[in-house]
Amino acid sequence: MAGPGAAEQRWLQAAREFARRALPDGEGPRGTEPPLLDLVLRRLRGAGGGDLPLGYSFISISDLLHQQRVPCCSHLTWSTNEFKDWAQQGQGALPMQNALPRSYLILVAYLTDGRQENEEKLANGCLYVKDNTGIIPCELLHLELEWLGSLFLFPSWSYIPQTDESAAGYVEILVDPVPVNLPKKVPDTIPVTYPASAKPLLTSRIPCKRRSKLTVAGELVRRGPLLCIRHKSFFFLFLKCFISAVWVPVLVQKPNQLTWHHSLQLGQRYTITGLSMSSLKKSGQKIFVTGVSSCLLPYCAEQVGEQQLGNSCQGESTQLSSLETAEKLSDSLELGVKEKRPGSTKESKIISYVGTVTKILNVQAGLFLLDDKVCLCLAYQQLLSSARGLRPGARVELIDIHLLQKPLVSFPFIVLGACLSSTVVLKSFSRLSTPYQASASSGNLYLQLLFRYNLDMPHYLWLVSLLETFEERFSCFFGCRRLLLSSKQNPRAAEKFLVPLLQAAVPDRKEARDIYDEILGEAHQCPLQKYLTMTPPCQAPFLSAVCCVAEQKSWECFSPSQLLSPVEAQHMGTQELNRRLAWSYCTLSAGSFQPRLILLGVLRTSSRSSSLQLQDKSSILPCVISHKNGSPFAHTALIGSLLQVENYQLVVERFFQTDFPSWEHLENLDHVREKKYSVYVQFYFEDVQVLHAPEEQIQKSLRSGNGSSLRRKHGSSLTSKLETPEAKMLKLEDPKPNTHGAENCQGGQSSTGRTSCVSRIFLVTQKEGLMLRNYQLPRKEDGEGPELQRSFQATVLWLGKPQLWSHPREIGNLPELKETDCDEEDMTQQYALLLFMGKSLRWFPFLHRDGLYRFIVPCCSDLEVFHKLCLPPVPEKFLSRSFCPLCLPVQDTWHLQHEMWISCLPERQLAARSVLTGMEQRISSIPEVLSNGFTGSLVSFSGEIVERTLCASPKNEKPSVTAGLQKQKGILLASDHSVKLSVSVAPGSPAVVDIYIASTYLQHLWGLLPGAKVLFQNLERKISRFHNVYCTYIASSCVSIIALPTSYLPLSSSSAGETSPPSLVFLSHLQSHLQHLSQARILCHVSYVLTLSLQWVCSLCSSIFKEGRCTRDSPPCPSNIGVRQASARVLVEDGTGEALVLCRNQHVAAILGLSLLDWEALQNCVQSRGSVSIQHEEATGVGCVEEPEDFIACYLRSLCRSPLICRLILLDFSLDRKPSKILQPAPLQLRNFRCGEVEFVSQVGPRLSLLCLNVEEVEQDALSYLNSKRIKRTSSYC
Ligand SMILES: [Zn+2]
Ligand SMILES: [Zn+2]
Repeated sequence: MAGPGAAEQRWLQAAREFARRALPDGEGPRGTEPPLLDLVLRRLRGAGGGDLPLGYSFISISDLLHQQRVPCCSHLTWSTNEFKDWAQQGQGALPMQNALPRSYLILVAYLTDGRQENEEKLANGCLYVKDNTGIIPCELLHLELEWLGSLFLFPSWSYIPQTDESAAGYVEILVDPVPVNLPKKVPDTIPVTYPASAKPLLTSRIPCKRRSKLTVAGELVRRGPLLCIRHKSFFFLFLKCFISAVWVPVLVQKPNQLTWHHSLQLGQRYTITGLSMSSLKKSGQKIFVTGVSSCLLPYCAEQVGEQQLGNSCQGESTQLSSLETAEKLSDSLELGVKEKRPGSTKESKIISYVGTVTKILNVQAGLFLLDDKVCLCLAYQQLLSSARGLRPGARVELIDIHLLQKPLVSFPFIVLGACLSSTVVLKSFSRLSTPYQASASSGNLYLQLLFRYNLDMPHYLWLVSLLETFEERFSCFFGCRRLLLSSKQNPRAAEKFLVPLLQAAVPDRKEARDIYDEILGEAHQCPLQKYLTMTPPCQAPFLSAVCCVAEQKSWECFSPSQLLSPVEAQHMGTQELNRRLAWSYCTLSAGSFQPRLILLGVLRTSSRSSSLQLQDKSSILPCVISHKNGSPFAHTALIGSLLQVENYQLVVERFFQTDFPSWEHLENLDHVREKKYSVYVQFYFEDVQVLHAPEEQIQKSLRSGNGSSLRRKHGSSLTSKLETPEAKMLKLEDPKPNTHGAENCQGGQSSTGRTSCVSRIFLVTQKEGLMLRNYQLPRKEDGEGPELQRSFQATVLWLGKPQLWSHPREIGNLPELKETDCDEEDMTQQYALLLFMGKSLRWFPFLHRDGLYRFIVPCCSDLEVFHKLCLPPVPEKFLSRSFCPLCLPVQDTWHLQHEMWISCLPERQLAARSVLTGMEQRISSIPEVLSNGFTGSLVSFSGEIVERTLCASPKNEKPSVTAGLQKQKGILLASDHSVKLSVSVAPGSPAVVDIYIASTYLQHLWGLLPGAKVLFQNLERKISRFHNVYCTYIASSCVSIIALPTSYLPLSSSSAGETSPPSLVFLSHLQSHLQHLSQARILCHVSYVLTLSLQWVCSLCSSIFKEGRCTRDSPPCPSNIGVRQASARVLVEDGTGEALVLCRNQHVAAILGLSLLDWEALQNCVQSRGSVSIQHEEATGVGCVEEPEDFIACYLRSLCRSPLICRLILLDFSLDRKPSKILQPAPLQLRNFRCGEVEFVSQVGPRLSLLCLNVEEVEQDALSYLNSKRIKRTSSYC
């Protein structure tokens, strides 16, 4: 057990150890004084009432820096209660924050301005504490200049480390330090000049005498902020005459004087010696400037004698707010928010304010929240002190600060903006354990852009919001430095993003700020004086927010009655009605958002969804990228790049479950039961701006990309696991030179093996779609049986031999192709079937037919790598059949690089190109596909989607294949649905082919929207019972979007807008053009109505609906909604032939020539009867039972027989292909026709069967025009 004496001995031992390490050589400065440690101990005894503070230990600066990780404070003389009181008071403003924890440390160090250190940059006006072990910045509220360079005991201080642990913290000096050495002597009496006498020197036109040095005394009325311009630091101070309001400006610019900034106290009297006069270059304004020998001294009346300059005190006075009003004005803030009329320029009030920092809003941008209600902006003052001391809990006084109410619509706080003539004084340090974030004064993009574009407060706050979001979204991908720090030569991503926006927002940017005028001008002038409440012109929010807003907008613009034409909808049964509403979409552009929305995202490719994606920290957004020239997107080099797109279509696909009973309920959105959305974006590559390309990233991923096991051929067995790293290295860096060829020998060394890679070029000759295939991945957990793997495959042609590179960076520009000219002997060996599974599925969006690509195998020097991994697709004995290509499973670690399109190969490499000719897959035209003579079951063609409809899947589709896929998420359509795309060569073109796609395939198919031009590959061509040609999407099919829809189409299921009417034809010509024609128009004469039927059917079961209920009995139908339907068969002739036209619903009214009102009345009469039908004598159909006594039937019959109906009409039709007779050539017949009074005989073919699409009455002048056109065409046929 050690006694108290022993404890003191130990403590003294530690003190000596500290002094040896931290204090200079233990001797007093002049040698005659006692050693420094004795002086320190004397001060400690003095502070502790004679006792040594044995409970405390010395800490050196170095230990403070490296060992103290959390904020702390030390109070040498305080009792526990004193400390508790102090801490409690500090928590008043922010009760949720903890007070600084107390530590028991003794800080003894020199106070310095850093000039003694040989690092020049330290002399920037900052203060430091230092000892032999290190130096650290400090902040104090009160500084006497003579303290600098002396050793002190600091009785009360806090240490605040930075949040970023790698950087240094700083010390807050809470109580004046106790000098260890004696302070310096007091100066002698000096002659001074008072501002009243000095002012005329500045205003007179007499050129200032260079040599004369002045001493000026006065009261400090203003202290400008410390500024640094072109690496030169300075500040202004303003001395006022004691007895009048006259003041003079003094420029303090010598490095040794910058610490004056800390010691100057407003309202105190000072004397400054060695001043000379100078004038500013630009304005010629004269000011006092300090010289090297200038001193700042406290004014002491006894020590000075006035130096008269012979001029009386004159000059105008400037109004300066006094400190006493500060508190009062801060009260006025409470009711200060008076909304002025928007759109008018407002003048900011200049006020003073005292408040507590409650939150650091953005330290880089210089934004702090005071008292939880006002935002303090220090950006206009440059923030040179790195915002030290401005932690939550600190109290600040703001003098002459601008008050701006609502500068930016989206900014929630009133803003207090400090300009260069505002004074910001730290009144007290925070007593809370709140962290400190340093603001970087160099490379601070906020401040750089603020000063470069001379932004006003609204624009600055907007910039801050953009940059803050930008940083938060993308710094996790690239790191802050890569995004933000930029030089003029190499602007970083953030700058590339912001500068064009700022240039557009402030086109009439005023010339650079004149900071001298701003500080010295008699009339105050600064960027904060006037402002206009700003509505941000654009935004770039998080992707998650983009999706949310898009979904919301898509819901808001969902209008079932607009999706379905009411004329059609009123005849639809419940099932059809709701099916037509089950899938719709809406597209949004940048301008659909308020403010305009700019899309930013990192381009990624996902192996899970096999799609391209834009990504930020919050979310991902699938995307479809097309080229304006129609070529597919294959820029593998863009993966990982940060893209900006302003011209895009954001597509929201809506998958709604609805139960609208009938069209009359369409306005009531309560019938929407379930809402699901899928949001993606499509844009052109040409509209993309690359903000940041990860040059090194590809190489990095290549070098580190050996994270998974390999498969290789092992005789004929399929796989062998190579799980251990050793095995992997062995495989990848096979040292045996097993291939001949000079280039290979260097690959043997393991030193180059780490970075070396093997590449091989190939051409894609065919690519198939994604589907489940019967391949097995090697690393599946046991127990489960063989599972189908999602995969896709591509047939490729190898070009040239594999190449070895010592580093991926050195991969050249297609050298392989130069030597391929004579390698034709073994073409079949050169083909391969690439199999993509698992992670390699990510290449799906990039791989396209006719593209030249390169595989890069990282960390590999084995030129046989491609060969070794090949699997024979069939047992080896069949391999002699030369056309069977080897199957190569693409490894996860391989990198794919798109080189070019085969069509772009330069002349000198034509040899390679000629090898490839003749193997191109044929792309047909739509008329070819539709023609009878077409052979082949797989077709490829391109066309524009004119219509997209959801329909019930054909019954014969097998659901078994799709059942497994259904489980995967992302399929939002019911599995029994399929999508019908009507595709034509161009809008309005008559040749239309229908493509059916089962809903299960749709999850990978983005961009299938009306108006889009699409290349379909390997669709299955089919012929229907009715001899119609259609196509279905099968597993080997593939689509790529060639062109995006040109404009926004509000109707998803409408036929593609109001295009030009179909071409006018003769019935006789239809026979020969049947295959190509889907729609046409004839000018014809209605001969008579063969059958006519009007009925009400049940909306649920389609039984006859009579007197308000369904007539179905077994089982009884609960429906109480009936749908009216009408149909008619009408015979028409146009002089060249006859046709039977089927009219439905509203077209029946049109062909009968009934007005809408009459038609309504007629249909209502049918309601009580259920159905009414009539038939012409000639018709021999069954099932039409006439009721002769019914007056509606009588009316209809007489209407049909009336000559009013037998008139000329313009009829738009499509071929109703039900009876296939038309395909067989039939003998021509002679028939009589009437045209007005004239009767003539014509040869006609068999009657065609047409479906009415539209009926137009023919006006007299239109008739003559049409007739002349007919005559012209007829003569051209002769
Ligand atoms: Zn101002
Ligand atoms: Zn029914």
